[in-house]
Amino acid sequence: MSIIFIANLIVYLACSIFMISQNSIEQVLQVVAIEEIVADYVSLKRSGSRFKGCCPFHEEKTPSFIVSPAIGIYKCFGCQKGGNAIQFLMEIENFSFVESVRTLAQRYGIALIETKIDNPDAYQESQLLRESIQAAVDFAQNFFQEQLHDTEEGKTIGLPYFKERGYTVETVKKWGLGYSPEMWEALAIESKTQGFTNEIMLQAGLLRQRDNATHYDLFRYRVMFPICSVTGKVIGFAGRKMSSTDPSPKYVNSPETDLYKKSDVLYGLYQAKNAVKKSDKVYLTEGYTDVISLHQAGIENVVASSGTALTSGQIKLLKRFTDNVTVVYDGDAAGIKASLRGIDLLLEEGINVRVVPLPTGQDPDSFCQSMGGESFQSYLDKEEETFIFFKAKFLIDETNNDPLRKSDAVREILKSLALIADPLKRSSLSQQLAKICNIEESLLVSELGKLLRIQQSKENQEFVQQVKSLTENAGIDLASQTKPLLNDSFQELAMFRLLLLFADKAYDESQTVFDFIWGECNNDETIAFETPLALKLKNEIIQQGRWPGQQHFINHIDADMAAWSAGVLADVHVLSPAFAQNFIDITTEEMNYGEQVIAMFLHLRRKKIDQLLNSNMELLKEPDANIDDLLLMIEYLNELKKNIAKKLGNAVSRI
Ligand SMILES: [Zn+2]
Repeated sequence: MSIIFIANLIVYLACSIFMISQNSIEQVLQVVAIEEIVADYVSLKRSGSRFKGCCPFHEEKTPSFIVSPAIGIYKCFGCQKGGNAIQFLMEIENFSFVESVRTLAQRYGIALIETKIDNPDAYQESQLLRESIQAAVDFAQNFFQEQLHDTEEGKTIGLPYFKERGYTVETVKKWGLGYSPEMWEALAIESKTQGFTNEIMLQAGLLRQRDNATHYDLFRYRVMFPICSVTGKVIGFAGRKMSSTDPSPKYVNSPETDLYKKSDVLYGLYQAKNAVKKSDKVYLTEGYTDVISLHQAGIENVVASSGTALTSGQIKLLKRFTDNVTVVYDGDAAGIKASLRGIDLLLEEGINVRVVPLPTGQDPDSFCQSMGGESFQSYLDKEEETFIFFKAKFLIDETNNDPLRKSDAVREILKSLALIADPLKRSSLSQQLAKICNIEESLLVSELGKLLRIQQSKENQEFVQQVKSLTENAGIDLASQTKPLLNDSFQELAMFRLLLLFADKAYDESQTVFDFIWGECNNDETIAFETPLALKLKNEIIQQGRWPGQQHFINHIDADMAAWSAGVLADVHVLSPAFAQNFIDITTEEMNYGEQVIAMFLHLRRKKIDQLLNSNMELLKEPDANIDDLLLMIEYLNELKKNIAKKLGNAVSRI
């Protein structure tokens, strides 16, 4: 071990830096399959000769990230990031160029030709620091493993502990488990003799400093669980205390370092990722020991959030591999309640969330060990429940039929329901939820509508921005390429119809339907009006500086306008309450006006995308067209369109 680390240190600490030859770099790029590299971070789906997925560099729900194996590049049409495999690793892992090339070369077994350069200043200091910290963490990992396997103390205290937990020798090795002895300065002294400075050991989160400037080990008398990045590098540790009289916490974790960012790490993901991809599902548990026990029992698609509440960084990480998350709960109510919020984050990311509650007093580790892997797997399969039903039952149960608490609970449940994007799924869930909560479904639907409208205004703003940056970056002049969108009378009049009927109704807590629609129109230069009637309506709104009101249009001096307005208002009464009652799924217009407004704008979006698609198709015909870029763009636009169709779902619209 010492020889390897001394050799590493020479590279890290010497004044000379090695440079990789251009030939080697080209060889790496030729051999590397970019889709394999990207697939470690992004769940890719094949699409013709390319792959697509959700971009790992920006938040998105519609895949705009495309990988082309033929050209060896990746490209995101949302945030515009793109490049080859080397650049991908630099971007996603914060690697230096050299680190990135080395990682690829190692993976594909390519021997790099490196030449020495004598200008270390060119080498960024921060990179040197990262590499030094990594070397220190690697050193510590080896040290802890040696302490476990090769010392008397490790063999009599560490190994028996793991054995008692039911871990086999293979499991202990597979997870790189270790032991830190009952001494203040075991690692501190050993690291010094190996040439690591105290400064680096501090920055790696392995040592602490006393007031008198001497140093001591952070982990003492603990069994060690190394924590890996998604690429399998050890980046931090968790140590569990061995002494029952030790007043310090049961688990001590590495502090945040340049390598270890707690909120972006899930324990076990490196070991689980292939099984997760294969089963398209991941079990989420709380502890390190849960993950290890389940793996040993043959259930490998399992990770842990390490006791902390789920973060959006961790969810993004999971989403690279699957959209199906099953949370396995320890069976205690306080714990369940605390984790409900975190799970809403999963719903928001479009993940299908299910839960499996365990019997009181059991955790996944103990329960799996007591019944064995196969039985535990069938327990998981059998007891798995859609999260939102679980949450509803749990919260309603807690209210003890107190009406005030019940309405709080219902509001809480609706918040989760509103996070589900698919309207079909939402409506089938709401029927069952109404039963669980024992309230009228119509009440549930109208409350849900309020929440959805608030959400929709946020999304509309995002969409306008997205299309803007998309077209700007692609060099498309939206205003000249697209015709006004409301260019057929039906579409234009549909918008004014909604205004005429519902302008003064609340869209959300801060604005009326008029405020919302008008705001959207002014926000978006591609929405213009062409039919005489619509133009007239628009000009009157501008002149008055507000919504002139229903009566204004019914009593309009312009006979056409008056007739049209009266027609719209008469039409709405065709839907009699009796009719609505017979068709439980059809809520009256009055009730779902918000959804109609939403649907109208979704249709508008779809039209806008259609126009962008057409203009791209036209560009394809040009002799000097960049075919590949255009095809990628067309693919992306089609994806956006599909997503809108999904959102529109069964939302019946008149437009
Ligand atoms: Zn992106």
